[in-house]
Amino acid sequence: MPQLTVVVPAYNEAAVLETFHQRLAAVLDGISIECHVLYVDDGSSDATWAIIESLVAGDSRTGALKLSRNFGKEAALTAGLDQIVAGAAVVIDADLQDPPELIPKLIEQWQAGYDVVYATRTVREGETGFKRFTAAMFYRSMERLSDTAIPRDTGDFRLLSRRALDALGQLRERQRFMKGLFTWIGYRQTAVHYQRDPRKAGVTKWNYWRLTQLAIEGITSFSSAPLRLATWIGLLSAGLAFLYGMWVLAKSLLYGDAVRGYPTLMLVILFLGGVQLLALGVIGEYLGRNYTESKQRPLYFVDKQHSPQRQN
Ligand code: UDP
Ligand code: MG
Repeated sequence: MPQLTVVVPAYNEAAVLETFHQRLAAVLDGISIECHVLYVDDGSSDATWAIIESLVAGDSRTGALKLSRNFGKEAALTAGLDQIVAGAAVVIDADLQDPPELIPKLIEQWQAGYDVVYATRTVREGETGFKRFTAAMFYRSMERLSDTAIPRDTGDFRLLSRRALDALGQLRERQRFMKGLFTWIGYRQTAVHYQRDPRKAGVTKWNYWRLTQLAIEGITSFSSAPLRLATWIGLLSAGLAFLYGMWVLAKSLLYGDAVRGYPTLMLVILFLGGVQLLALGVIGEYLGRNYTESKQRPLYFVDKQHSPQRQN
């Protein structure tokens, strides 16, 4: 029975996978506990699966999973974690941005009794000031809006104990904001600090559009504050509209009603229209999530699978 399985989601990572495996294997060789590696090919369109198969053939502790199409990193991770029936798990990116050399430190904290040991980066190299700023804004608003405080500057790179894995396995929501889910399960959690390197090869699959979607996902998954905000804005503008209406009424009763006031009319209509559309959009966002959840679709499908050979 393995005590630790390293789960690696990979989507079009042919350029780095071999280097990655070398570095990971070197680290695992130095660890005294029984380790397995599990690659999850998230429907790659390049040579990723062929490389994974050669890695599996060359290293008996390595297993692999190929999803039927690209389901996204969160689903790929979930597929990998679902496979682990015994022992703890480490989640790591294939692009070497998460240094495998940190794994022994994660294990140390795990053996000290922590259930979730996450890696927090101290330096964000190769990232623009704008990216850093938007990231900081995101973490701050998440802290304000939701009850689940998501640790800052923390990716998915982390170690999960057996019971943390069991807990996570029970969260089957379709729109998975993993960082939030990892935190939400609770138990004893701690951080290990490291320097995050720029990507070694290949390109990031994240652009600002996808990051914005991720941020909306995070906020709507863990907070209904925007719905409440829409209510408050609605109440406020209705109150203001009522006061203004009273004033218009009084004015026309006292001084008569010449047809004037086109600018104010436009202003009010446009403003209220905007507020209504915004509120509708917020409601739609939550309604859409309800819709995807209610379909109860599986999170992923597995195409092919190789189990690790070494069983001791
Ligand atoms: N990944 C995946 N499916 C996807 C996108 C990414 O499995 O649809 C994997 C990718 O191969 C890598 C990890 O998730 O191992 C992180 O992806 P990436 O480096 O593009 O994200 P970033 O580090 O820029 O956040
Ligand atoms: Mg990366």
